[in-house]
Amino acid sequence: MEEDVERSSEEGEEASKGIIVVGGGAAGLMAALFAARGGAVVTLLEGSRACGLKILVSGGGRCNLLPGASEDADFFTSGSRNVLRRLFKTWRLDDVIRFFEDDLGIRLVLEEETGKWFPSSQSARAVRDRLVEAVEASGARVRVGHRVEEIRPRPGAGGFEVAGHRAGEPFRLECARLVLAAGGRSLPKTGSDGAGYALAASLGHGLVPTYPALVPLTSSDRELRELSGVAAPVRWQAVAGGKLREERERPLLITHRGVSGPAVLDASHWMVRDGAALRVAWGALDEEGWRRHLVSESRRRVDALVADRVPRRLAELLVARAGIPGRLRAEQLNPKQWRRLLAVLCASEIPVDGDEGYAKAEVTGGGIPLSEVNPSTLESRRTPGLYVCGELFDTIGRMGGFNFLWAWVTGRLAGESAAQAACET
Ligand SMILES: Cc1cc2nc3c(=O)[nH]c(=O)nc-3n(C[C@H](O)[C@H](O)[C@H](O)COP(=O)(O)OP(=O)(O)OC[C@H]3O[C@@H](n4cnc5c(N)ncnc54)[C@H](O)[C@@H]3O)c2cc1C
Repeated sequence: MEEDVERSSEEGEEASKGIIVVGGGAAGLMAALFAARGGAVVTLLEGSRACGLKILVSGGGRCNLLPGASEDADFFTSGSRNVLRRLFKTWRLDDVIRFFEDDLGIRLVLEEETGKWFPSSQSARAVRDRLVEAVEASGARVRVGHRVEEIRPRPGAGGFEVAGHRAGEPFRLECARLVLAAGGRSLPKTGSDGAGYALAASLGHGLVPTYPALVPLTSSDRELRELSGVAAPVRWQAVAGGKLREERERPLLITHRGVSGPAVLDASHWMVRDGAALRVAWGALDEEGWRRHLVSESRRRVDALVADRVPRRLAELLVARAGIPGRLRAEQLNPKQWRRLLAVLCASEIPVDGDEGYAKAEVTGGGIPLSEVNPSTLESRRTPGLYVCGELFDTIGRMGGFNFLWAWVTGRLAGESAAQAACET
């Protein structure tokens, strides 16, 4: 660390008593905003050319920035659920919604059929721009293109030395408190490539092994893959070690490599992490539901009845897989055929042989253990003065705005706590 690019400047002097936030994604922007509003001198260092690149691509460019409702079961961690509960109590969903609407002035609309909040502008860019604007208005300095490569506790004095590169030139800064908000490994082209884990490890943190989550799965089922583009409602089950781990109802999308869509993205962490089996009830009907539907108009052809609930091509495949000629009417099915048909419709196992990796994963499972921070402040138990937030943690949410909720809540707490500590000293 020989370079001294910014340290001697006025800015560097001020920063040495203030807070550096590493990473300008959802969590880092929120941390910087609340740290600056808490009275601290804040510098946000973002490695990419702009802040919030992942916000820009979120929700298909519309940014599903919050869920309509949230409960414990919407999040997944190998750490303590008590800690999760405590964290969410620090900023309740209703208050987060009010913050976006009243404080940031971003009008939100609740999409009734999915239970997700979107900006009424339907523009992820508007959300990102407004956040950055608010951070700048709070007095925090936003420095893009500043890639942090090393964080070292200052010997004796407390605080940190932060070194990295900006446009090929080295920089070095100092700070009293540091918020690490460098994200996980998913969609690395947005700037989050796992560097945050290495920085955390250099400061004494452990790592729950990471894996791609909310990720499309690949399948060896060629006939199914031939239906690429077909979507259907399903009730999915993740079954591992003979135990049902989770089940939910959501749409599934067949892709040319396997399966995706909300059902699969939600289920995927069970398959990727635990090798769980993916079982689906097509049409999101259980045995009783299918039986009732099939006998309700038993003079109709079986394939047409199945096609009432799932797209025609998929219905034909499922009926063929039950070994039943599609033209048979429901009333003609013998008991063996009933059993086979209901098994295919209600308990099809999709053979999963892999996933599409971090390039397609919406989030990263695993990460810094929750047990390594103080849950009241998010200050590191390994390195005092260091605060952690966002996707870096061993916590993921389901699809539907839960991951942003996690980023906003932990970002705010980390920023506020760091400011409080910095202003006290
Ligand atoms: C395609 C896609 C769509 C998504 N849609 C949604 C959605 O609609 N709703 C939802 O709730 N969630 C969604 N997510 C998930 C959500 O985007 C993430 O959970 C959230 O962005 C995590 O925020 P974060 O700030 O922790 O990390 P990130 O957003 O990844 O931000 C980390 C930042 O740190 C920077 N950084 C990393 N290393 C360094 C370094 N060494 N020096 C300086 N800067 C560094 C990165 O460049 C990045 O800007 C989506 C994700 C993807 C990939």
